Amino acid sequence: MTDTDFSREIRWQEARITRIIERTPHLKSFFFLPPEPFGHIAGQHVDVRLTAPDGYSALRSYSIASAPNSGDEIELAIDRLDDGEVSPFFHEVAEVGDDIELRGPLGGHFIWRPGDGGPLLLIGGGSGLVPLLAMIRQGFAESAAVPTVLLLSARSPEETPFLDELLDIEARWPSFRLHLAFTRAAPLRAQDHGRRIDAEIISEAVKSLGSAPRHVFICGSNAFVNTAADLTTGAGIPTDLVRTERYG
Ligand SMILES: Cc1cc2nc3c(=O)[nH]c(=O)nc-3n(C[C@H](O)[C@H](O)[C@H](O)COP(=O)(O)OP(=O)(O)OC[C@H]3O[C@@H](n4cnc5c(N)ncnc54)[C@H](O)[C@@H]3O)c2cc1C
Repeated sequence: MTDTDFSREIRWQEARITRIIERTPHLKSFFFLPPEPFGHIAGQHVDVRLTAPDGYSALRSYSIASAPNSGDEIELAIDRLDDGEVSPFFHEVAEVGDDIELRGPLGGHFIWRPGDGGPLLLIGGGSGLVPLLAMIRQGFAESAAVPTVLLLSARSPEETPFLDELLDIEARWPSFRLHLAFTRAAPLRAQDHGRRIDAEIISEAVKSLGSAPRHVFICGSNAFVNTAADLTTGAGIPTDLVRTERYG
């Protein structure tokens, strides 16, 4: 069976939390080891189900941050919403050694494989980085000759998950360029910005790809995705090249 076989049954599994890493004050990575490890494609997600003793259950989706072919563990990166139900459980209650019900991999639209080529324009807002990170990690691991630009919007450097890793990948993978747009902090470097994404920021990101993008992936909150999708269309990118994932 290959990781592109969507026909197999996706069963719930009790996956053990093996590690927890704090990435920012609001976002933590949770590493899970499913008893039946599965291959995934960058961009896919899993469903997580929490069930209370009285039978009440809550189900949420989380993108897979790990690169495909990087081992049996899968990394989920979960942003804490103070008034949420499931994300505070992970941040406050879940511990290494806990078994959590999950099923995956899921999703056949918001996916990219190195063979799909590029240029690749990735636009993420906050935790919307997660599925894009899986694509970047895979492109980097395989030294893909695919021009890849990530435009990432976050509040500040402190609130930017995986910032050190992204800067390191940019320094070591010639095909990759990172543009950071901080909404509440000054830009870090000349290629970064200290404001919300706008037409000029999108046009600079497109320019640094070298040629017109072949695939565009946008992920984040509804509001962020709407704005970014409108801006890419406004920049002349055909809508049928643009794939979106909305976190609600
Ligand atoms: C495909 C996919 C992938 C995702 N990947 C990630 C990921 O990698 N990382 C990540 O952090 N998140 C991801 N999400 C979002 C995630 O699924 C959850 O939505 C998120 O964690 C919030 O869940 P929660 O239970 O903590 O909050 P919820 O309890 O669902 O609340 C979410 C927000 O909605 C508000 N709300 C809740 N109920 C109502 C209501 N009835 N009326 C009005 N407002 C309400 C709350 O105030 C809160 O601010 C993804 C979503 C999708 C669809």
